Amino acid sequence: MSSKAFPLPTAKAHQWVVYLTARCNFSCDYCIQKGMIIPGEKRRPWGRYDELSGEAWVSSLNALPERPEHTLILTGGEPSLHRDFLYIATHLEGYKLDLTSNLSFDIDAFVDAMKSAGKTFFSSFHTYHPKFMAPEEFVRRARKLRDSGVIEQPVFSLLDLDAFPHFRDEEHDANIRSFYEAARGLGLDFQRNEFRGNHMGDAFTHEHKQQMGCTSGWVNFAPNGDIHNCQFHLEARKHSFGNITDIGRVKPIPSFGEFFACSDFGFCDPCHENSGRGAFMDGEGKVFRRNADDSRVYLRWMKVEDSLKVGRRFLDEGRPEEASQAFLVAIGKQQEEEGEASPEAWAELGLSLWATGEEKKALAATLQAIKLGKHDPDCLCAAVELGRRTGHQEEVQVDLLQFLPPERLQEIEKAVEAVFV
Ligand code: SF4
Ligand code: SF4
Repeated sequence: MSSKAFPLPTAKAHQWVVYLTARCNFSCDYCIQKGMIIPGEKRRPWGRYDELSGEAWVSSLNALPERPEHTLILTGGEPSLHRDFLYIATHLEGYKLDLTSNLSFDIDAFVDAMKSAGKTFFSSFHTYHPKFMAPEEFVRRARKLRDSGVIEQPVFSLLDLDAFPHFRDEEHDANIRSFYEAARGLGLDFQRNEFRGNHMGDAFTHEHKQQMGCTSGWVNFAPNGDIHNCQFHLEARKHSFGNITDIGRVKPIPSFGEFFACSDFGFCDPCHENSGRGAFMDGEGKVFRRNADDSRVYLRWMKVEDSLKVGRRFLDEGRPEEASQAFLVAIGKQQEEEGEASPEAWAELGLSLWATGEEKKALAATLQAIKLGKHDPDCLCAAVELGRRTGHQEEVQVDLLQFLPPERLQEIEKAVEAVFV
């Protein structure tokens, strides 16, 4: 084949990715290889494949007349689950190899195989997934791999879920804390990765698609060898350009910056738009990527009690605006399901709104909690103090006297005066 006819773009803007398998031994709910990234819903393989053998991968990739300027990433799922993973890792020729793995593979066997073959990977990327491996174990494995010298630039990381408590629980947070300690103790450098699981600032729902111009820097090889320039189309098995085992019949992939029409916009994979290797063009020729991240979109799928937990977490973590949103969503759902929200949810909303400085709204929420039966001292004191701060002292007195005897109100007012005035 002449180099002119070579169908796969090799310029640095393009990233070649070999998905050796769709399978993974972990099942993270925040995995971006899910059509809908719903908190608590586990990742499953996106399809069953007759996976290409190691021999087929190696002979096809080694036969290509050109190599990408960028690395060739071996990934999955978890790539080490491929039955011939070590063979592939040690037999590819002329590529700057990169590996993306959850680090669950047999490090000793990998290091031995690479050393015996006299091979190295240029780079690798390993994210710690706290629900599936003990932190000390990950750090121990990471150090062993780093010190082995078979990967020139290994990167270890954590997903930054600070703004997404929807995907965290006590076990997650405890393991992250232990990870920091273990990494510090054993001298392991790591980075925190941005969570990319939004589509244009909204959740991935796969609910709506529309026509859009698109450009892509991805050259993705599916586990069966089919070639796509979009992960969504790879997972959906649509619009393949051909198969790596028959490169002569592969159609040319457009280069980065060359826009093509796609009617699946809205189902795009998170990496496409969030990595700098993809962009879109609307009907008026405006090129765009995503909007800002917005963790609030995940609240729509959460149960009332889980939204309340997320709200409390946000409040504890000093993010009262986000806490207010979580409480508001919980209140909305309670009203929808039961006709009225719980006094506790209103009181928590009041507290979070107060922390944001929205004192009038905080007062309204707190009075609603009291009206619905929450008469504990904290809530009553909050109402009195918010009434004083907003200049609604008398109205608050009138409201509270519907539920309290005058002498109890006086006690509350004295207590508030002692603390705040
Ligand atoms: S380890 Fe990676 S590929 Fe596997 S489920 Fe978790 S995020 Fe997804
Ligand atoms: S618009 Fe979205 S679904 Fe269509 S090719 Fe681009 S990234 Fe893929």
